[in-house]
Amino acid sequence: MKEIIEPFRIKSVEPIQFTTLEQRREILARAHYNPFKIDADDVIIDLLTDSGTSAMSAAQWGAILTGDESYAGSRSFRRFESKVREIFGFKHVIPTHQGRASEKILMSIVGGAGKTIPNNNHFDTTRANVEFTGAEALDLVIEEGKDPDNLHPFKGNIDLAKLEKVLIERSAQVPIGMLTITNNTGGGQPVSMECIRSTGKLLRRYGVPFFIDSCRFAENAWFIKQREEGYKDKTPKEIAQEMFSYADGATMSLKKDGFGNIGGFLAMNDDSLADSARNLLILTEGFPTYGGLAGRDLEALAVGLEETLDERYLEYRHATVSYLAHKLMDAGVRIVQPPGGHAVYIDAKRFFPQIPPEQFPAQVFVCELYLAGGIRGVEIGSAMFGRNVNGVEIPADRELVRLALPRRVYTQAHVNYVAEVITEMYRHRSEARGLRIVKQAPFLRHFTAEFDAAGSG
Ligand SMILES: *Cc1c(COP(=O)(O)O)cnc(C)c1O
Repeated sequence: MKEIIEPFRIKSVEPIQFTTLEQRREILARAHYNPFKIDADDVIIDLLTDSGTSAMSAAQWGAILTGDESYAGSRSFRRFESKVREIFGFKHVIPTHQGRASEKILMSIVGGAGKTIPNNNHFDTTRANVEFTGAEALDLVIEEGKDPDNLHPFKGNIDLAKLEKVLIERSAQVPIGMLTITNNTGGGQPVSMECIRSTGKLLRRYGVPFFIDSCRFAENAWFIKQREEGYKDKTPKEIAQEMFSYADGATMSLKKDGFGNIGGFLAMNDDSLADSARNLLILTEGFPTYGGLAGRDLEALAVGLEETLDERYLEYRHATVSYLAHKLMDAGVRIVQPPGGHAVYIDAKRFFPQIPPEQFPAQVFVCELYLAGGIRGVEIGSAMFGRNVNGVEIPADRELVRLALPRRVYTQAHVNYVAEVITEMYRHRSEARGLRIVKQAPFLRHFTAEFDAAGSG
């Protein structure tokens, strides 16, 4: 059969609230043209993020009832720890309430002024946590990864020559090296096993610990199985186990490939680093056998980590993203090629060539998308990664809009609707006008920034 069907039946449903164009116009103005400030009830299809938005399975809900809420030594923690160890293989498993909490703890220990942390691409929270300590977050993705039309099968790979150059010049200032799999900021693009292995080897040669930002490790494993020589007969779990065997530790948001609505962990092999991490954990997250989580969360996550590696699920997941990508391409919309693992990334620069980067074309896209169909996407462009230096906007390299697909939530009809709305927007694209920023925070400004029509006020 050619048709890849949703590998689940729907047992419990959540109604969608519909809005009219007139209502959305008002809602968007009230939100100061920042969809992060729109109430979820006012959104018809929410593609803001795949983070924490997964539908849990009946097995996960069942496991929730078995949660052990003991403060210390909870049985649910042991179950969680053993599932994480089975897949990731690290000695120390430190639960946190979400990915950035594990980043905050790790960077507080290894970061600091004068240090440099290389990565393929730092995700926004990773970058913010690195920079908050005074360290430099260095992005070294391969050149192919920066070209939205390049069809390289592993566009998330790090440039090993550039990494080696950094290590030759200043390995003493490099406390850890990282890879983000899949590369969220770079378009949800995978990293090859060969690259993971070589990165591990290279860093080890210079005595630098290797940490994997592993939020979408199962999706990355699926790409390796599909695209890399020698892996087609391995299970996603075996592939994942091999990926992590080359690393010294990992940060993880279980809100992604953990099928959790909340959760994360920091894992590592080094005993003394783990001691320092646990000390910080107690300050902000909680006792080491629950971190920032309830026992019931740990139970659901242990089940989720197994389900996320199911081949039928990964096949369907990949097919959904690719289906939306192809519908948009057929309509003439330019997207980042090839489509990534969890989202379709639209090139807003080419969608709205009349809007200069200083006027946030990707932010304009997310606003127009909401207006046209009540669909919420996220800007990954100058609002997120640009900078304001003494009142002057320094734009980001790219102006992308991410349409992230929550796991197991929307059906094919929902995806058809999204494609139809964007196709209609594309027809009217020449009418769109730019935005300017009127209010912003010093870190992660895209979450709270306020916008207005460019040229107004
Ligand atoms: C989501 C994400 C994080 C941060 O995780 P949170 O759970 O949102 O705090 C870090 N890195 C990458 C690649 C992510 O996608």
